[in-house]
Parts: sequence; structure tokens; C-alpha cells
Amino acid sequence: MHGKCPISVVTDGDRAMGKAISLVMPAAVHRLCSWHLERNVQTNVGDSGFTHCMLTYMTESEFETQWLKAIETFGVQQNEWVKLMYCKRKLWAETFLRNTFFGGLRSTQRFESINSFLNRFLHRRLKLYEFMNHIDKAMSRLRNNEMKDDFDTINEHPVLVTHLLQLEKHAAEVYTRNTFAWVRDEIKSEAKLSILNCVDDMDSVTYTFKKFSVGDKTWNVRYTPSTNIFKCSCKMFNTTGLPCSHAFSVMKAMNQHHIPETLILQRWTKNAKDVSELDSSSTVTAPDVMQLARSASLQMIYLFETIIPSTMLVRKMWVYNFQLYVNVYMGH
Ligand SMILES: [Zn+2]
Repeated sequence: MHGKCPISVVTDGDRAMGKAISLVMPAAVHRLCSWHLERNVQTNVGDSGFTHCMLTYMTESEFETQWLKAIETFGVQQNEWVKLMYCKRKLWAETFLRNTFFGGLRSTQRFESINSFLNRFLHRRLKLYEFMNHIDKAMSRLRNNEMKDDFDTINEHPVLVTHLLQLEKHAAEVYTRNTFAWVRDEIKSEAKLSILNCVDDMDSVTYTFKKFSVGDKTWNVRYTPSTNIFKCSCKMFNTTGLPCSHAFSVMKAMNQHHIPETLILQRWTKNAKDVSELDSSSTVTAPDVMQLARSASLQMIYLFETIIPSTMLVRKMWVYNFQLYVNVYMGH
């Protein structure tokens, strides 16, 4: 972790993990996985009407109104699970979580998919040295996929399709391929907005937007030209680190052809790895040292397991070697 504490954590709601997070990472904002919650909604209430309260960003008073409306509609005012979920609302409602960076994550799905991927290589009857070999194969596959993604990001040039070509071109130059697709959707959404109002005060301009011919919900963007800072009421940048359609609308109004640096988070760019590699260079063990330590560790495990009967000594050596592998090979 290089001395950095996580600012946000997503879990499936396991109580032990909840207690551990509050003890070990008290500053981290804890979020409950939306996928598990949606499944629990179906089990306990039998309707997805609560999903709107969970996933939609609204003000706290709007949330209270929507929540009361939902529990009255489904007649679950006395449902114990519903009462418990209301008490825990700051752990799952988008309303209370938008100010914290989650990088677009709402569920543990990404972690579950890695579990599922590793399960293809592993099974419970594997010996420890076989386990290491299988983990090696899985890691090689993951690294190969990552290299392919990097190659595609560097060498593929997307066809520009939006109405804001200059901004889209800049986004394609800056962001990785997957992130660019997300940003491009925001640029496309900008076409649906219309400016309701524009107030110019001493040092900033506040724009008010709504969707053209759809509903009456409005968003405000406060733009400060001297610092190039955008603050949008939708808080998308706070939680994802990506510019929202409203910010793009301000860029269009200001005739800007490039996304300002204040709206570009390094971690989503093509240069993200350069920074992370520089940050961690002092703590990374040389590859040949890692390989040597790992080979020695695996050889000892193999010898002890095949030659010497299973004794306390063997078990101790297994623990020792596994610890050595984790410390050296995994870089912990
Ligand atoms: Zn916005």
C-alpha cells in the first residue's frame, strides 16, 4: 500500500469485515455491495422499487421522500429488514456516498470475477507446490491480458463520433481505451442538455442545466476561470474522477477544445502506470531475486513433501516457505 490508507472499501456486508474495517481503516468510507443488496431486496421485499433509492443520486430530503413513498407503496413499514436497511442507509445509498471516490465501483463484482477466474486454475486437492504453479499460470494469463489492453490502448485510434469532436479527440489521446468509452458517453449526453441560466459573479460563473424536454430536474456547475475548477452538483467527478456531461456543456459554452487538467485524474490516463511505477520503484524486488527465492522455496516444499513423512517439521517448513513466497514473490 506504500503507506497509503484506502479512502473507500466495498464489501458484501460481512460483519467481521465491517468491524475490521472500522478498526484498521477508520478513515475509509465503507460501502455495501449493490449486487448483494439488490438480491436481498428481492428476498425480503420482493420488489425492485428500492433500487431507485439505492442507485439514484438525490438530495437527502428527496431520499427521505422517496424512501417513505417506497415503503408505503409496498406496505413494508414494519418489515425488520427494511428498518435495518434504513439505519444503514449511509452505507449503501448513492445520496450519502457521492462525495467519496469509488472509481465507479458499486459492487464487489470485479473481485468476484477474479475469484471466478482463479477457480478455473485451482481446486482443493492441489498440493502447495502445485498450487504455486497454477497461480503462476493464472497470473501470467492476467498479465498477458493487461499487456494486450495496453497495446490496444496505445495503437488503436477510435473513430470520433460525437458532436464535440475536439473534446472527444483530446479524451481519446488522454484516457485509456475503456475509460475513454465512459467519457465519450458523457460527451454524447451533453447533447441532451440545455442551459437554463448563467450567473456571472466576481470570480466564477454558475450554469444551470436541465435535460431538453425531459422532466424538471436541474444541475448546477460553478466554474472558476482563474483556477479552471468545475464543481457540479451531480458530484460525478468526486466519486468517479471523470468529467460529467454538465462539465462538458460548460466547456462547450466556454469554447474550450481541451479537457482541463483539473478534470483529468492521473489514474485513468495512459500515463497512470508511469506514476505508480515511480512511486513503488524503491520497494520492488529485482525479478531475478524474486525468481531465485521462489524456486528455492518450491524445491524445499517438494523435497519435504515427497521424501519426509508428514510430521510437525514438514508442516512448519510449509508455513515457513509459504511465508517466504508471500514476502518475496508477492512483494509484501
Ligand atoms: Zn455534473
